[in-house]
This record gives sequence, structure tokens and C-alpha cells, in this order.
Amino acid sequence: MYIAVDDTDSREGMCTTFLATELIKEFEEYELLDYPRLVRLNPNVPWKTRGNGAVVLKLGKGVNKKNIIGKIEDDIFIYDGESIPNKKIVDILTRSEKVIKNWAELKDDRTDPGLIVSTKKTPKYLYEKTVKDIVTLEEVIDTLESKNIKYTGFGKKRGIIGAAAALAWEPDDHTYELITYREQWKWGTKRNIDKEQVKGLDKSLNSVFDSYDYDEDASVIDPNSPCPVLYGVRGDNPEELKKALEIINIEKPESWITFFTNQGTDEHIQPAEIKDVKPWISVKTQGKVTKEPRTIKGGHVLFDVSDSKGNSITAAAYEPTKSFRDIVNKLIVGDKVLLYGGIRKDPLTLNIEKMKVLHLNEKIVKIGNPVCPKCNTRMSSIGKNAGFRCKKCSTKSSEDDIETENVERELEEKWYETPVSARRHLSKPLKRMLKR
Ligand SMILES: [Zn+2]
Repeated sequence: MYIAVDDTDSREGMCTTFLATELIKEFEEYELLDYPRLVRLNPNVPWKTRGNGAVVLKLGKGVNKKNIIGKIEDDIFIYDGESIPNKKIVDILTRSEKVIKNWAELKDDRTDPGLIVSTKKTPKYLYEKTVKDIVTLEEVIDTLESKNIKYTGFGKKRGIIGAAAALAWEPDDHTYELITYREQWKWGTKRNIDKEQVKGLDKSLNSVFDSYDYDEDASVIDPNSPCPVLYGVRGDNPEELKKALEIINIEKPESWITFFTNQGTDEHIQPAEIKDVKPWISVKTQGKVTKEPRTIKGGHVLFDVSDSKGNSITAAAYEPTKSFRDIVNKLIVGDKVLLYGGIRKDPLTLNIEKMKVLHLNEKIVKIGNPVCPKCNTRMSSIGKNAGFRCKKCSTKSSEDDIETENVERELEEKWYETPVSARRHLSKPLKRMLKR
């Protein structure tokens, strides 16, 4: 039996992953038949609350005990086992609703939880479409009705979209996140996380990614919001992640659980030609720089890229991408780049997540006017684009004779990515991408 939940948090608190731990507590007579899933969806949807992530639990009657994946009062294991029979659906739906009512930020009018309880999964396209594009609630409800899948929602019920999409996920790629939670009386108080310990964790655990931002010299495992999460550590190896519990040891978490996730997989990215780019999707596309980088108000760096068919788009490294802007600023007209990023609507802009420099153009700068071959002194300009003339002997020279120099480029033909602090949950870090 699957329980899928989305959109229970607000900017002021809660976290849908914490709600998953409360659901696990509620259904203590059952066992988990798989890791709980944390599924991130289109990061560009304009109405998302925070991270746009949904959770899915698979519950059943456990037979064969497998590994330990968390601790919520007692140790939590995953099992091989049998699903809960269909006839229990209404009971499980009712009890899950009660948990959501207890914990979700229902007073926030932007929090619109959705809940699905089902013995079967939703159709795969729902995930594909929701992670990459925009899906309407009507479309999702039609699908659920046609498959006779039980669902419910609160407020505007938008969370049904995420819950249905998360339940549809068939992983091609995946990662894990071990998330720890604080005792309730500490929620909203300052987290006691030592950044040296986080740096130590980042350096000692091979499969871990996106935990420390060396550009900003800051930990990124602890959130800034007043939510129940103490910290979350991401990586490819769930066993290795458990070492975080010993390494990060100043504030002790009350509970922890390992999620199976689509974070760090680039599943939101679709290949697109510049002419096909539209708002709210995320693309990879390539072209030549046709308008050199410029810094606008707010510290954002923009440049224009065009493809061989003459279509062009403005690409941006926004202020929060910090040092990445210095890299982008070194691009010149004629450089060829492959860009990954989300599309912003007004004005239509590609918000760069990472970039591969495919080809660096030669950077030629003028050193001085042509030198007179007779007098060995620099000639003077006659006028704009009109050539040069020696003041002493009147010898003429053309614009082509300007003395130039080939300047060494400060970029390389390789990948560059935004700093960890500015990274999307779904963005595949170069650490994962270039590993294989
Ligand atoms: Zn001369």
C-alpha cells in the first residue's frame, strides 16, 4: 500500500518529510517495504511553497527484515513483505488525513496538501510531466478517477498533483538523503551545527554531495527555515550516510530517516533548441555567445546566446550564484557554450544551473596604432575606420595594420557549476556527473 503526500509545509514551518515520520508512527502495526521516497518536482513552478518535494511510503506486512534506515522512537527497518489488502484503503486514508490535519500548515493559504492511498502506482507520464513541466489539477484528478485511485486534498488541493507525480516515479537515476529531526521544543530556535564538522563530513564521505559551500564557507545541510529538520545529508550510498550521525554530533536529533530521492539527478532537465524554450521548464541547450556579459542592477550577470539558426536567448547568472558570475563574466562573443537551467518568464531568461564551455574563441585586443615602417613611430588615426597616417612622412596605413595581441583566456573548455548554496535540489552536481 502506498501513501503519497505533498504540500504540507509553508515558508514558516513544517516539512513534508517530517510528516512522513508521523505517518510511520501512526501505522506502527505495518512495516516499510521500501525506503520512503522524497521526490522533487519542477523547481520552476511559480506557486511552489519551498522545495517542491513530495513523499511516498510503501507499507505492508513485513516478512524478511532487511537493513536499518532510520530511528523514530524505535529503529526503523525495511522489509520484504506483502502489501496491505485493498479493503484497508479507506481506513488508511482516514488515519493519514488525521495526521495531515495534525501537522500540516493548513492555516497558510498557500499550503494545499494532497494525499493519495493506493495499492497501485500512478501512470509514469505523470511524473515525467510534473518534474519537467506544468500539470493541472484537473488533468491529475481525471487520471486518478479513471484508474479508480483514492485521493483527498485540503485547501486548493494542489498537493494532489505532487502526490500523484511522486507515486508515478520509476527511477532511472536516484540518490539518498538522510534527514534528522529536532525535538519539537527546539523548532524555530537556532540550530547548533558546527561548520567544521560539516566540512569534515564533506571531505571524509566519498558519496556525499551538496553539503558544504566552499565559496561561501558555509554549511548547507541545515535549513534556514524554522522547520523540524535539523540537517539533511545527501549522497549515493545510504550506508555511508549513516556516518553523519556520528560526525555531526553537537545537537542530537530526536529522530532520523533515510529517503530514496531524485535529488541531484537532473531529471527536471530536457534537451531543447532555443526556439522551443518556454517559461517554467528547465532545459539544456547550446549556442554561441552573441552579446557579451553585462552586469545589471542587483548584481545579476546576463549574456545572449544564439544557435546556428539565429534564434537567441538571454542567459543569466543571478546574484545568489555569487562566484559563478565571475566565470560567466569571462565569456566573450564567439564562445560556444552548453547551458543547463530553468526558464524564467518575464523577461524570458535562462537561469543557469551549470555550463560547459565547448569552445573558447580567440580573444584579440588592440595594443596600438600601426607603426610607420620608415620612421618607426606610431601613426595617427585619420578618422573612424578611415585608416592611419604618419605625422612625419605621411605614409598611410589601413585598419588591418593595427597592432593586436592574442590574450590568454581565463576560462577552460570544461564544466562549471553554480555554488552549492545556489543549487537546485534536482540539479546533478558535477561531482556525480563526472564520476562515471
Ligand atoms: Zn613615417
